[in-house]
Amino acid sequence: MSRLGGRSPAAPGPAQGVARSVAPGARRWLPLGVALAVACGPEGGTHDLAVVDGLVIDPESGLFDRRNVGIRDGTIVTISAEPLEAERVIDATGLVVSPGFVDLHEHGQDEAAYRLMVRDGVTTAFELEVGTGDVAAWYAEREGGQLVNHGVSVGHVKARMEVLDDPGRGLVPAGIGGSGSATEAQIAEMEAIIRRGLDEGAVAVGFGSAYTPGADMAEIERMFAVAAEYDAPVHIHIRGGLAGLDSTVAAARAVGAPLHIVHANSSAGAQIEPFLERIQAARDAVQDVTTETYPYGAGMTEIQSALFDDWESWPDERFAEHQLVSSGERLTRRTFGEARERGGTVIIHGRTEEMTRAAVAHPLTMIASDGFLEGGRGHPRTSGSYSRVLGRYVRDERVLELGDAIAKMTLMPARRLEARTPEMARKGRIQVGADADITIFDPLDVIDRSTYTDATHPGRRNPVRDRGWPARRRWWRADRRASGTSGEGAAALTDGAARGVHGWGRQRRPRARAAALDPPSEGLRGGLGLPPRVVAAALGGRRRSVAGRRRSRRGPGPGHAGRARAR
Ligand SMILES: [Zn+2]
Repeated sequence: MSRLGGRSPAAPGPAQGVARSVAPGARRWLPLGVALAVACGPEGGTHDLAVVDGLVIDPESGLFDRRNVGIRDGTIVTISAEPLEAERVIDATGLVVSPGFVDLHEHGQDEAAYRLMVRDGVTTAFELEVGTGDVAAWYAEREGGQLVNHGVSVGHVKARMEVLDDPGRGLVPAGIGGSGSATEAQIAEMEAIIRRGLDEGAVAVGFGSAYTPGADMAEIERMFAVAAEYDAPVHIHIRGGLAGLDSTVAAARAVGAPLHIVHANSSAGAQIEPFLERIQAARDAVQDVTTETYPYGAGMTEIQSALFDDWESWPDERFAEHQLVSSGERLTRRTFGEARERGGTVIIHGRTEEMTRAAVAHPLTMIASDGFLEGGRGHPRTSGSYSRVLGRYVRDERVLELGDAIAKMTLMPARRLEARTPEMARKGRIQVGADADITIFDPLDVIDRSTYTDATHPGRRNPVRDRGWPARRRWWRADRRASGTSGEGAAALTDGAARGVHGWGRQRRPRARAAALDPPSEGLRGGLGLPPRVVAAALGGRRRSVAGRRRSRRGPGPGHAGRARAR
């Protein structure tokens, strides 16, 4: 047992960087800090682990200051400016200590993908768009502990593939499950599959109406109604741009289903501004609608999907926007046709940087990766989405404040799921009583490094391993298992025993409750869930903290020259 860490923020000491440069701003919010410290006892008791001296950010309470975080039995039990006693200590001086990132849209749900996610700061990853047709089996396959917490929706796409006997064996239909229309009996069968999945604890109901053009809006609304009975959000990849958004919003409103539009960036394309305005208008009319984005200009999907059913009518130049994942080659009419015959995945280029930036910067969008790989290859969003937002859009381009970016990665996705999945109220926060899902990163160095032909690079540097902590430390099991790679952008703490996250399961909620839509919480209506007073105080402090440290680190003074590097 040792008594370590936790210099008082005011005390002189060797700490450099964020912690020190935050201090002047911190004084302005001292009353808030004191209130949290008092509320956050018990100080002085022993902890399994302490993360000390980091810039601790909690988007819900507005905490944005240097603190020590004490953890016992996987729960945060102390947040304090005072020193803590702990069995193990992680020195986070100069690093950001954030709630672990919550990814609502991650198709890769296996060890290889989880390993990449941990190195991008993700502690909880959900597959909610496509989902599964067999929820109980999905969770059972992951019993025994994983690197990240995980959960799944029951999927209309999967139910349709099963009921219509689609030939596809990948994520989405490759034939009649997408393009065929369903009989009344088949629709009833799909409803039964979705009910069973919800009874087995599905977190949401997933939809890909773009992949199922044979399903008319009446069929989709029938499935929305089942979701509404269970208070389950519907996570949908819409079809048809703005008009498709309107009809989806109307269908969800008609039956009272909470609605989440996946990847607004790729569904809206050049119309991202009006797309998000319409979602805001629905929220202003007190409809529960949310959305997400990933921070890249290209998409990725299966080449046999219904998205490409009209490929033979394309002009020649359009094929070159498509890049085959297995080989990295850009396609032509001939090679596209051959690849569609064979199957596999394809990356679709074409959105501009302005579109991506608009989607990332908008207050409504959560960050979600939409990640998956095919044979170890794929889209860089799988391993770099969160590091890219923090490095490119927060630090380098400054289109987003650090605290707002953290809210998009943590609190907002956690709140999206809370109504049906109450345990999400303990995630996405650094608060006493919250699950110890924690991510640590260096705000001056974090960046994604994966590319469209090499999608599994971790982000730059592992801020924790660079400090020489032993790799065999239990909390760094993910790190050890990932040996052979060169570092991480944002490292998530994991003990390798992360659990499945379930919806209400058999505790079906009364329909009347679902039909009476709650207005969005006061906080979320503004987009970020921070009380105005805290936002006003923290915005000044945020600018000072990151910018101030950046200047001092990059300056020509002795000992600093080596820190400056091209980004
Ligand atoms: Zn997806």
